[in-house]
Amino acid sequence: LLDLRPITSTTTTTCGYCGVGCTLDVHVRDDTIAAITPAHGAPVNRGHACIKGRFAHTFIQAEDRLTAPLVRHNGQLVESTWDEALGLVAQRLAAIRDQHGPDAIAMISSARATNEENYLAQKFIRTVIGTNSIDNCSRLCHAPSAAGLTASFGLAGGTNPLDDLDHTDCILLAGANPTEAHPVVGARIKQRVLAGARLVVIDPRRTELAALADVHLQAAPGSNVAVFNGLAHLLVEEDHLDHAFLDHRTTGFDDLATLLADYPPEAVAAIADVRSADLVAAARLFGQAQHPAIVYGLGVTEHAHGTDGVRTLANLAILRGAVGTTGCCGILPLRGQNNVQGASDMGALPDVLPGYQHIAAPAIRARFERAWGRPVPERPGLRIPQMFDAALSGELRALYVIGEDIAQSDPNSGHVRAALDACEFVVCHDVFRSRTAEQASVVFPAASFLEKDGTFVNFDRRFQRVRPALAPPGHASDDFNVLQQVAQAMGADLGCPTPAAALAECASLTPVFAGLSHRRLEAEGPLHWPCPTSDRPGEAVLYLDRFATPDGKAALAARPYLPSGEQPDADFPFLLITGRRLVHYNTGSMTRRTANLELRPAETLEIHPSDAARLDITDGTDAIITSRWGQTVLTAHLTTDVAPGQVFAAFHFPTAPVNELTSPHTDTATDCPEYKVTAVHIQPVARG
Ligand code: SF4
Repeated sequence: LLDLRPITSTTTTTCGYCGVGCTLDVHVRDDTIAAITPAHGAPVNRGHACIKGRFAHTFIQAEDRLTAPLVRHNGQLVESTWDEALGLVAQRLAAIRDQHGPDAIAMISSARATNEENYLAQKFIRTVIGTNSIDNCSRLCHAPSAAGLTASFGLAGGTNPLDDLDHTDCILLAGANPTEAHPVVGARIKQRVLAGARLVVIDPRRTELAALADVHLQAAPGSNVAVFNGLAHLLVEEDHLDHAFLDHRTTGFDDLATLLADYPPEAVAAIADVRSADLVAAARLFGQAQHPAIVYGLGVTEHAHGTDGVRTLANLAILRGAVGTTGCCGILPLRGQNNVQGASDMGALPDVLPGYQHIAAPAIRARFERAWGRPVPERPGLRIPQMFDAALSGELRALYVIGEDIAQSDPNSGHVRAALDACEFVVCHDVFRSRTAEQASVVFPAASFLEKDGTFVNFDRRFQRVRPALAPPGHASDDFNVLQQVAQAMGADLGCPTPAAALAECASLTPVFAGLSHRRLEAEGPLHWPCPTSDRPGEAVLYLDRFATPDGKAALAARPYLPSGEQPDADFPFLLITGRRLVHYNTGSMTRRTANLELRPAETLEIHPSDAARLDITDGTDAIITSRWGQTVLTAHLTTDVAPGQVFAAFHFPTAPVNELTSPHTDTATDCPEYKVTAVHIQPVARG
């Protein structure tokens, strides 16, 4: 029955699911969300929203929502008061810091938290604890984008706004499945293709967009660098180059041309298991386009050579003069979580302060020290994988985790659980009792994105307002308040009494954010960074005058193809690829508590029918998947969307813990895990 009682409030805010950053109107009736609708006129989503942002909100009323702090007593987590929880956290963190030094404590901040919360988190760990050991989940997804795009162009973000896809005539989509993981972008790409743009998809799976593509390079997992070098080889050989751009605005062409001699189509076809003719066709489509665009995702970054993947993909845009020029469409990394761009932008990283200002630079540290009134440590801190190793070696004693379920989302879960067990003290902020929370000493009940005040940064560098539609339930509280309270309990004052004050302080210390403020965002709507002054809009298109590299030029990178860390062999003959499903998000903690669960109640293992027949596996039967690192059971789904010899699964379900399987191999430059390539053995569950 339709509820016709009047809506009591409507709040415009930013979606807390994926990094597209859709603007939503949240309609509340009697302290309950009655509906969420896409905001009309919103610059990113233009009246659209997907099944997650629009409908997956009932988790906020879930019966198992945390509404009071939990403290471990006699091995059990029991409900507690804020005073007890804060007192214990303050006392244990101070004791570990004082006894073992500040580097015995590390923090994992959250891509789900606001910019202001992330700003406060890094200020807390640096000034109250005294270490740079803070990281966020960009380590697990787009750290290679930050490193690769910075090295190629100068800044750690995409080069152009989403709207520039409106005038592209050829999209090269690499390692991304946006119709499931970033649906509003997926729809924009589909619309553009239906309007006549050509589409090249590079993906080991036949995704929805791959099926629409002019050319689908179904390249073997881990072969990206060879494929991108192969396309670059053809761009050079067939002279699809912007010579004036290369002469005046780039470096490194001669070294790249020398390397590319080793990547003729036949050689690349053999490495990537694609047809030479398809490589030639893809290079010609991209090479002959007037306004080529590159869109990519985790299928490029989550590899042992993910940063090389980003750099060799960036080469293609540079060779065509398709970046930093008027009318170009540039290169867009599809960031995963809602605020993974912002968490890094705010300095929740072990080697940089807000705005990617390097911790090693004395003048930068001095500026922050003057403002904060406390010393800023010089030594870079630990990255997330290093935190787990340090916990197991006894070097790290306490881990503070904000809004991430690392025991489910991080690779090689057995190793993560052992690291959590090895810590003397673990603090969590979470909305639910996650797998990580189960191993914590103290759990603070967190607010969801629908109950928060602040800002997120989306995948095309837009700062957007986040406004609370409701108050958090019971004694739950936002991360901003919890961090303030913990600092106070430790005798420190983080300043920044409000989220607006936190962004103002951040802007005053960070030239690329200097023109940003809550007041301005309220008055003008979303603003891109860099935004150095308050009288001009931010820069949506980057590098029109010069690149932000030290010499002002885009840097072509000569990077050879190197094999993945994981290789199949007789014992582990299949390659597992992990990814996302349309109706679920990340560890599924929110979407599994909504009606979206009815649309996909469990995870499945996608396997090619020919492989399934050989293994005596039928559709709907259970299979045991074993890797060199762990084991799990999944129900088989037979599909030709995966190639023979490859299988696919997502990690949304704790009952089908796919990250038990994934390996400890990481990107050599950034430590981003190799989620996309795991050698596995598959056998049917014995029928009995
Ligand atoms: Fe939210 Fe992403 Fe869906 Fe937009 S596309 S509504 S940001 S989940």
